[in-house]
Amino acid sequence: DPERLLLNVNGIEVIYNHVILVLRGVSLVVPAGKIVALLGANGAGKTTTLRAVSNLLKSERGDVTKGTIHYQDERVDSMTPADLVKRGVIQVMEGRHCFGHLTIEENLLTGAYTRKVSKGDIAAALDRVYQYFPRLKQRRSSQAGYTSGGEQQMAAIGRALMADPKMILLDEPSMGLAPQIVEEIFEIVRDLNTRERVSFLLAEQNTNIALRYADYGYILESGRVMMDGTAQELASNDDVKEFYLGIE
Ligand code: ATP
Repeated sequence: DPERLLLNVNGIEVIYNHVILVLRGVSLVVPAGKIVALLGANGAGKTTTLRAVSNLLKSERGDVTKGTIHYQDERVDSMTPADLVKRGVIQVMEGRHCFGHLTIEENLLTGAYTRKVSKGDIAAALDRVYQYFPRLKQRRSSQAGYTSGGEQQMAAIGRALMADPKMILLDEPSMGLAPQIVEEIFEIVRDLNTRERVSFLLAEQNTNIALRYADYGYILESGRVMMDGTAQELASNDDVKEFYLGIE
């Protein structure tokens, strides 16, 4: 069933440091095979939502205090981040987080550390990454810290691909990058979605580009979903146009 839900976030509340209420009951779904955009201004709670799904908030003293998260019909909100990685839920954090002193290829290989696989499988996984990101193949021996922001963003997504993802949680892929590179990255996201059937939950402040590539979108404001709809519905909505589409 193509409309099967992969991810179902139901009414989650997140509090930092026991007092700072940041998500006030966020609900969203990601159907299998779709690209879903999580939109909204800086500070609206997009990153917090993505990190809640991977159970990565503990290290920042964040707690999910209400609501549930199901992935493939299994309740996952008390699983470890590693359990989620094993199930194919892979996070690509904002700011990219490459290991600057490692080469691009070594960075990619770190994405395969959870796979209990043979060298041959890892070589095939690397080939697959290079097929989607020819630039990374050219730069495979370069120290990541000396590559461009766009190449580091590609390496971060490539590393996620090494972990055999079913769903990638992609945080602000456009951040700090030139429009042409952003376009190139979104084209690859679309390719991964159509050819590898990877689903995406994508946090973006760049509403314009996100709505051109996503199937569906949710707009967050102050930790609440203020509006949701198909990308087409949102792109033609007057409030969205006024408040989110002029600004880039
Ligand atoms: P950005 O584009 O800046 O990432 P965002 O929509 O992703 O914005 P979040 O990063 O989720 O928003 O932040 C939501 C709110 O939670 C902000 O007000 C932020 O200051 C606050 N916040 C985030 N992390 C923490 C933390 N560890 N402790 C306290 N408050 C936090």
